[in-house]
Amino acid sequence: MTPTVLLLTPFTERFMQRLHQHFHVVDASSWPDILTGLQGQEAQIWAVITSAVKGVPDEVIGRLPQLQAISVRGVGLDQVNVSLARAHGVSVASTTGILSDCVADLAFTLLLAVSRQLIPADRFVRSGQWQQQAFPLAARVNRKRLGILGLGAIGRLIAQRAAGFDMDIAYYGRRPKADINYTYFDDVCAIARWADYLVVAVPGGPETDGLISSDVLEALGPTGVLVNIARGSVVDEEALLQALRTRTIAGAGLDVYMNEPCAPQPWQGLENVVLTPHIGSATRETRQAMEDLVLDNLIALQQQGRLLTPVE
Ligand code: NAP
Repeated sequence: MTPTVLLLTPFTERFMQRLHQHFHVVDASSWPDILTGLQGQEAQIWAVITSAVKGVPDEVIGRLPQLQAISVRGVGLDQVNVSLARAHGVSVASTTGILSDCVADLAFTLLLAVSRQLIPADRFVRSGQWQQQAFPLAARVNRKRLGILGLGAIGRLIAQRAAGFDMDIAYYGRRPKADINYTYFDDVCAIARWADYLVVAVPGGPETDGLISSDVLEALGPTGVLVNIARGSVVDEEALLQALRTRTIAGAGLDVYMNEPCAPQPWQGLENVVLTPHIGSATRETRQAMEDLVLDNLIALQQQGRLLTPVE
């Protein structure tokens, strides 16, 4: 019998064709309410496909008696209740590993763009201002101090890129890593005080909620730059806006926000921040690999009884 998969978020045409070859599909990606939309099909659902940003509501996990697996496009499972899934005998898979390089690339792109004033420099040339005056000097990146919050898959790749810029690297986390000889800090304010650049790469969720507070921003100081490619919840956004307005810090590069898609108004007029619309993994090559893995996880579960990249 062909199992039925519940789809909670839109995927590409290519993915949908492959998905239909293997499974029955209930496409709930445009439904305002999943449980209302299901209308008695709950007992048919064998697996859920979603994204890390969309997640799965807790009540959906509890209402699908035959649910075996949740296959998530992305990493960072703050919107998927993994413990609840486990308690219902449901395995969870993410697309860990294959997107980390692209996210690290974007973190470094933001860091460079803020420091070298890339966006204002582009506008300067296009508007003809260059013909009247010289562009203001920017801050050097190479040989500066980089503090990484969360030396996981992405954090380590950010460190690799920073090594190519001869940066002095330190990290903050719950505990020091045995295989790493960068300086370890167990206090966020202390690493912020030390660093020229602070890059956030910890997971979202209650443990890291508001980790970047006004105190941390004050510690980072007027020449410091914050980059966040993790989750918007990790940064106190009001405190950050205030720090950017008052130049408590020099600048910020952000890919993630408290509410996504975020409203433009709060950021208007702030020349010292570079904003991207949550595109850390959004390259053609990586998104295709992620989609393939989302489906391959379910095919492996169906055919071999195991997920390829289960969340431990
Ligand atoms: P990861 O491999 O799990 O690494 C997370 C790191 O954070 C680990 O070093 C972990 O330390 C540390 N950490 C976990 N909880 C912490 C806490 N409460 N306080 C301090 N440190 C903590 O994850 P990853 O693949 O690098 O991804 C990191 C995050 O990036 C994801 O969770 C996701 O939210 C975000 N992300 C964003 C994008 C984007 O498009 N912008 C794309 C992918 C991921 P231990 O080793 O001690 O556990």
